[in-house]
Amino acid sequence: MPHGCNWRNEMDRLRRRIEVQGAVQGVGFRPFVYRTAQRAGISGYVLNCSAGVIIEAEGDELSVARFLETLQDELPPLARIDDITIAPAPPSGERGFAIRESRATSGKFAFVPADAATCPDCLRELTSPSDRRFHYPFINCTNCGPRYTIIRDVPYDRSKTTMSAFRMCPACQVEYEDPSNRRFHAEPNACPECGPGLALLSAGEMAAGVAAIFETSPEILARARRLLEQGSILAVKGLGGFHLACSATDDRAVSLLRERKRRSGKAFAIMVRDLDAVHRLCETSAADCKLLQSARRPIVLMRCRTDRNASTVSPSVAPGNDSLGVMLPYTPLHHLLFEGSAYDALVMTSANLSEEPIVSRNEDAWPRLGGLADYFLLHNRDIQTRVDDSVVRTFEGHLYPVRRSRGFAPDPVDLHMPVPEVLACGGELKNTLCLTKDRYAILSPHIGDLENLETMEFFREVLGHLKRFFRVSPKAIAHDLHPNYLSTRYALEESGLPAVGVQHHHAHIASCMADNGLGGRVIGVALDGTGYGTDGKIWGGEFLACGFDTFDRRGHLRYVPLAGGDAAVRQPWRSALAYLRDSCEAAVNLPLPLFRDIPERDVRFVTTMLARGIQTVDTSSCGRLFDAVSSILGVRHETTYEGQAAIELEAAASDAPGVYPFELGGDEFFALDLRPTIAAIVKEFAAGTSVPDISARFHRTVARLTRDACLRIRESDGLTRVCLSGGTFQNLRLLRHTVDELRESGFGVFVHHRVPANDGGLALGQAVIASHLQ
Ligand SMILES: [Zn+2]
Ligand SMILES: [Zn+2]
Repeated sequence: MPHGCNWRNEMDRLRRRIEVQGAVQGVGFRPFVYRTAQRAGISGYVLNCSAGVIIEAEGDELSVARFLETLQDELPPLARIDDITIAPAPPSGERGFAIRESRATSGKFAFVPADAATCPDCLRELTSPSDRRFHYPFINCTNCGPRYTIIRDVPYDRSKTTMSAFRMCPACQVEYEDPSNRRFHAEPNACPECGPGLALLSAGEMAAGVAAIFETSPEILARARRLLEQGSILAVKGLGGFHLACSATDDRAVSLLRERKRRSGKAFAIMVRDLDAVHRLCETSAADCKLLQSARRPIVLMRCRTDRNASTVSPSVAPGNDSLGVMLPYTPLHHLLFEGSAYDALVMTSANLSEEPIVSRNEDAWPRLGGLADYFLLHNRDIQTRVDDSVVRTFEGHLYPVRRSRGFAPDPVDLHMPVPEVLACGGELKNTLCLTKDRYAILSPHIGDLENLETMEFFREVLGHLKRFFRVSPKAIAHDLHPNYLSTRYALEESGLPAVGVQHHHAHIASCMADNGLGGRVIGVALDGTGYGTDGKIWGGEFLACGFDTFDRRGHLRYVPLAGGDAAVRQPWRSALAYLRDSCEAAVNLPLPLFRDIPERDVRFVTTMLARGIQTVDTSSCGRLFDAVSSILGVRHETTYEGQAAIELEAAASDAPGVYPFELGGDEFFALDLRPTIAAIVKEFAAGTSVPDISARFHRTVARLTRDACLRIRESDGLTRVCLSGGTFQNLRLLRHTVDELRESGFGVFVHHRVPANDGGLALGQAVIASHLQ
C-alpha cells in the first residue's frame, strides 16, 4: 500500500463511544462485541460498568457502520438492548480490540440477569459421550445457566456468586479466559473435575444426620430415576429451590404426595420430557410451544386434551381442572432425570410446608421437608436467592402471566418514562414487591402469601437483595389501604419511609396501564376477590375512570352482605346464601344442592347472621359473585385453595349462547344489579338446564355488564381505552368474552402481558402511582 494512501486512511478513521443499557451482562455480550469488532476490523475496547456496557470502536466509516449494525441486530440469545447512545470521540490510532477490566460507576444500575434454561449447545455436550461434561448435571455457558439465584452482589462476577466456593480446574480456566470460547466469563463455569456434585440420601439417613458427600458420578442420577420409577417421592434441589417430585403417571405416588403436602385440591405442576409428550397431554398453541421452549421455561397452563385416553397422567394431578400446568426440563439435572426413564412426566411442585416460602438450603431440607419426601437429591451449589417457578398462560398469542418469577425476575419492566426511586410493598396474597429507578420497575419474584413470619422474612430478604443489586434507595413507600396486611404494617411501622396508601383496584388498573405503556386517563375494570375500599367496605367489582394520579369510582357491583368475613372466602355457600336471600327470597325454599349438602343448622345460623347483620360486611367482590354461582349450581360449596370455586365453574362451562338479565341503576354513579341474573340462574337450574350451559351464560353476562358499564363511562367521561385487571381476569373464558364485547363496541382494550392481572402485579401499580405523587 503506498504511504500516502495509508496516511489518508488514518485521517478517515472514526471513533465512537457507545454506551449500552439493557440485559447485557452475564449473557455473553462482551465476547460477542469482541468477535464482531474483530470481524469488522474495528479497534478499541469493551468493558462492563455498573450502568451496562461501554464500547469504544475505531475504524473507517464503513466498518464502524457495519459494526454498529451487527451490534444491534445479531445479539446473543439472552441479551437485550433497551438503550444505546453513540457519541463521537477523538480517534487514537490504537490497534486491536480488547476486553477491559470491569469498572464501577455510580448512579445507574446494570441488569442482574435472570436464570436461563440449558441451551442447545450445552444440551448437545451433556449427551455426547466424548464430551468432558458428558452427563454432568451442572453444565452451563454464557447462553444459559444460573444467574439471579447465585448472585450475591454486583457487578456480576464469579467471586460475587455462590460459585466462588469452587476453584476452576485448568481446562475450565482456559475456556473462561478465551474470548472466542462460549464459556468466556461464564461465571458459573464448571466441570466434573472442579464443579458442584450431587448426593442422594434416604429419609432415614437424613434423620440420622448422615453427612452428604457430593460427587459427580452418573450413578447417583441413575438411582434417582429408579426410585422415581418405583413410586418414591424425592425432594430435588433445583435452580431456585427444592421441588417435591414423583412420577406423574403413578396414581398412588401422586395421591400420597397430595396427602403429605395436605394439598387436597390445588393442581400440581408437571415437568414433561419433551414437546412431543406435551402435545399428547394438552391442546397447545404456537405461542404456548414457544414459551415452553424459551430460555425462561415457565410453567404454561394449557387445556387438557379431551381424548383423555391419550393422556397417561394421574387424575390426581389436577382434579376438577380442565387445564394442566406443564413445563419442560430447564436444568441439566432435570434433563438427566428424564434420560432413559420409564416416565414421561414428573410432578414437580415447590417444596415447602403449607404456605411457607420454598425451601432452598440443604440444611433446611430435613427440618422442613422431613415427612414429605422419601429421598433427598441434594447438590452443593448454594442458592443465594430462592425463586419459585413462573406460571403463565397465553392470550391471543401473547404472554399472560399468572406468576412472574424464575426466568423473568428480576428483569426490570421498562416503563418508558423516568420515575423517582420508590418501593411498593404489594398486597397480601401472591405478594411481590416493586422498586423503581431510572425508567424501570423492578418487580421481585413471587414471595407468597404474606400471612406468616417466614414469608415476611422472605420479603425482607428479597428487598435487601434487590436494593443492593439495583442500587436503589427508595424515597417513599407505597402500600395497600388494608390496615391489617403485614405489608401495610411493614410500610407504616418498619420501613421508616414516607408512606403513600394506594387503593387496591386503582393499583390494579395502574399496573395494567404501566404494563401497556399507557398514560392519561382510562376506563379501569378491576374484578377480583378482595380489596379494601375507601369506604371501609370490601371492593372487588370496580369500574373506574382513572389515571396514575387519581381515580373516580364510577360504578361497582351492587353491595351484598357477606357473613363471616374470611370464612366466606373458604365457604362459597355463604356467598350463595347471601346472593339468594338478596335476589329471590323464594329460592331459599327451592331444592338447590346447597340445601342438601350443607347441614341445615349451618344454613340457619348464617341466615340469622345475614338477617340481623351480625358479623357481616358489605362487598362488591366479583370473586364472591363467582363463588355464589358456583355453589348455587352445586359445583363447589367449600374450597381448599383460593379461587377454586371459580376455577371449577369456568372448567364446567359449555359454549352455550345467551345472556341473563341485569340492571345498571343510577346515573353517573351506578350499581350493577345482578339480582335478575341470580333469579334467572335459579329458575333455569330448577327447570333442569345443565350446569355447563348456565355457567357459559353466566360468564357471558359478566362480560356484557362490563361492556354496558364501560359504555356508560364513555358517555360521561369521553374515555375510550379500557384496562382489564384483577384476579378474576385470570379466568380466560371471561377475559375472552369481555375483550370481544368491548372491541365490538369500539373500545381500545388493554390486558396484561408482562405482569400478572392478579395481586402478583399489584406492586407495580402501587409503585407507579406513588412515583407520580413524588
Ligand atoms: Zn449453554
Ligand atoms: Zn473444570
